[in-house]
Amino acid sequence: MAASMTDQPFVYTANPGRVLFGFGTREKAAEEARLLGAGQVLVLTTPHQAKLGDEMLDRLGRLGSGLFSEAAMHTPVSVTEKALAHLQETGADCLLAAGGGSTTGLAKALALRTGLPQIALPTTYAGSEMTPILGQTENGVKTTQRTLKVLPQTVIYDVELTMGLPAGLTLTSGINAMAHAAEALYAENRNPIIDQMSETGIKALFAALPVLQDKPQDREARWQALYGAWMCGVALGSVGMALHHKICHTLGGSFDLPHAETHTVMLAHTAAFNAPAARQLDRLGELLAGQPMGEAIFDLVAACGGPTSLAGLGLTEADLDKAADLAVANPYFNPRPFNRADIRALLQQAYAGQRPQTGARQGG
Ligand code: NAD
Repeated sequence: MAASMTDQPFVYTANPGRVLFGFGTREKAAEEARLLGAGQVLVLTTPHQAKLGDEMLDRLGRLGSGLFSEAAMHTPVSVTEKALAHLQETGADCLLAAGGGSTTGLAKALALRTGLPQIALPTTYAGSEMTPILGQTENGVKTTQRTLKVLPQTVIYDVELTMGLPAGLTLTSGINAMAHAAEALYAENRNPIIDQMSETGIKALFAALPVLQDKPQDREARWQALYGAWMCGVALGSVGMALHHKICHTLGGSFDLPHAETHTVMLAHTAAFNAPAARQLDRLGELLAGQPMGEAIFDLVAACGGPTSLAGLGLTEADLDKAADLAVANPYFNPRPFNRADIRALLQQAYAGQRPQTGARQGG
C-alpha cells in the first residue's frame, strides 16, 4: 500500500466482470457464451478484422448467429443503428466484440440499447473492455456516459490475438493504456487497490513495449503488455481521470486527431506538468528510468520511434488557441491547479515535440 495513503479513508468499488487470461483462451468463447445463457451470439469486428470475426463464428458453432464487421472509431451512432437492425434480424441474445476499443465501443452501444450481455475479446491495449464508459459520436459531436449497462460481463484476454499487432499500434496503444494508470495515481477518488493495479500496469508496459518494438513476437513481452493493459483498463474504469484525458478528448473530438497517437504525444507533457502534485507517479518514473515520469515517457516513445509532436499528427499552430480554450472551458479535477496560459504553453511544447523538463516547471 502506498505510504502516503495509509492514514486516508477511501472507497473502493469493484466493477463486476469475469476475466479469462492466457494464450489461446478464445477457444473458450462458446463455453463462456453458454455460461451467460446465450442461445445466439452476434460477432462484431471492424472491416479490417473480419477474418477474426469469421474464425470466432466458426468457434461458436451453432451458437453463432452472424457477423457485423463495420465497427468504426469513436462509435458513430449511424453504425450502431445499422448494427442494431442487423441484430434484430438475426435475433441474437448475446454480443461478442473481437477487436480494439472501436469494436468494444460498438458492443457497448448495442448493450445500452438492448440490455444484451457482452463478451469482449480485446486485441489492443486500449482497455475499454474494463470500463463502464461509452463514448458515442453523432453529427461530429462525441458524448461520453458512464453506466454499468455497458460493462462487458465476460472478457477473454487471448495473448495470441495481440501477437500480430503492428509495432506502431503496439506502442501507441500501450502508452494509451499507461495514460489511464498514470492519471489514476493522482485521481481525486484514488484508492490503494487501484494504485497497486496502476503501478503494476505501468511497470509491465514500460518493460514490455521496448522489447516488442524489436521482437514483436516475444511471447513473454506480449503477455506482460496485455496483462498491464488489463490493469490500466481497470484503473480507467474505477477512478476519475483529469487533465491528460481532457486534453486528449478535446484534440480527438474537435480536431480529429487519432486516439492512441494523441495519448502517446501528450502523456509526457501532462505527466511533467502534474509532477509537483503527483509524487507517486514521479517516484515510479525514478524507479523505472531514473528520471521523472514525463521525461521517462518521452524518452521511451522517442526510443521506440513513436510520435512525439502534435504537429506530426496534423495539428496546426493556429489550432492551439482553440484547443487551449476548449480544454479549460468546463472546470474539472486536476491535482495541480492550472489556467489557460499553462495549458497553452503545455500544448505549444507538445506541438513542437520538445522534451519536457519537469524540474524547470516545478515553480509554476
Ligand atoms: P481501434 O479499435 O480503432 O483499432 C485500430 C485499428 O487497428 C482497427 O482497424 C482495428 O481493426 C485494428 N486492430 C485492432 N487490433 C488489431 C490487431 N491485434 N492486429 C491488427 N490490427 C488490429 O483502436 P483502439 O485504440 O483499440 O480503440 C480506440 C477507440 O476506443 C476510440 O474510439 C476510443 O475513444 C475508444 N476507447 C474507449 C474507452 C472506454 O473506456 N470507453 C477506452 C479506451 C478507448
